[in-house]
Amino acid sequence: MNFVDLTNDIRALAPGLRGRLEANAQLAPYTWFRVGGPAQMLFTPHDEQDLAHFLAHLPPEVPVTTIGAASNMIVRDGGVPGVVIRLSPKGFGDAVAAGDLVTAGAACLDKKLANAAAAASLGGLEFYYGIPGMVGGALRMNAGTRSNTNPEIEGETRDRFVSARAVKRNGRIVTLTADDMAFTYRHSGAPDDLVFTSAAFRGVPGEEGAIRAKMAKVQEHRERDQETRAKTGGSTFKNPPGHSAWRLIDAAGCRGLTLGGAQVSEKHCNFLLNLGEATAADIEELGEEVRRRVMAQSGVELDWEIKRIGVKA
Ligand SMILES: Cc1cc2nc3c(=O)[nH]c(=O)nc-3n(C[C@H](O)[C@H](O)[C@H](O)COP(=O)(O)OP(=O)(O)OC[C@H]3O[C@@H](n4cnc5c(N)ncnc54)[C@H](O)[C@@H]3O)c2cc1C
Repeated sequence: MNFVDLTNDIRALAPGLRGRLEANAQLAPYTWFRVGGPAQMLFTPHDEQDLAHFLAHLPPEVPVTTIGAASNMIVRDGGVPGVVIRLSPKGFGDAVAAGDLVTAGAACLDKKLANAAAAASLGGLEFYYGIPGMVGGALRMNAGTRSNTNPEIEGETRDRFVSARAVKRNGRIVTLTADDMAFTYRHSGAPDDLVFTSAAFRGVPGEEGAIRAKMAKVQEHRERDQETRAKTGGSTFKNPPGHSAWRLIDAAGCRGLTLGGAQVSEKHCNFLLNLGEATAADIEELGEEVRRRVMAQSGVELDWEIKRIGVKA
């Protein structure tokens, strides 16, 4: 399916755009699941000012969706109406340490953030080494890890967060404090229309070798317990209060369950996989089937952690 091409209209409304604006741009190659339809318009801003200029001139009725590494996302098969904003590491990918702070662009990979902190002998950010997203996604999701076996490699975005910059839907650039971010488990209560552009995190001064040793443990834990090279979106459902999602899914007999080209991972059953030819509908329907079976078996309602964007085909 193709959307109406509105890019010339938008360019006329926002003269002097320096970023790239494309019509009917395929999103699947940018996502971990490798599924989904096109964006009606995909905007890749040159820098924060360019993003602000674009949003200030974009008619308010045009919906805006932001994606990062799309490692926590299903793009539906019918694509995404309106504008999808994707920050590129070129304009938003740096990570710079000064004193005990590391400031990173929203398109900086979490892994690069952890590396920059380690190079400056700052600890506390090692958990980011195992999360495949970008800083913008980490802010929106309050990304973090829990480990039953090794608490020293645990951490969450809110533990290290100092401040963030973002552009509002009306084009205004704002700075956010920890209170503004209203972090809870895998969620930020900051307004949905914000596009985060950068953030500062506080590290804990330490010894680089010890910090890198922790990062190696994070990596080891990932390789052992997770699907690190599969087409997946990581943990599909949040852990319900007092429960672990994977145990409920296992108990409901869903480990290895398949639907079309999608499968519940055998290795970590809170992960869904695209075995190669899955559609977004296969993956989402499989997730809904898991929710139904868990509800029938244990009476617990699973809540999607993965964001689903766009429209069904
Ligand atoms: C193998 C694997 C392992 C994983 N392990 C973990 C883990 O241990 N812990 C964990 O927390 N997560 C984990 N995840 C999930 C995912 O990596 C995190 O949620 C990550 O923070 C998402 O970042 P992203 O850049 O991919 O965001 P996306 O998936 O692109 O987007 C996620 C949400 O953030 C929003 N968003 C993204 N960028 C911006 C921005 N610049 N401004 C405003 N909103 C934005 C999107 O609109 C969307 O709502 C894993 C995923 C995979 C595939």
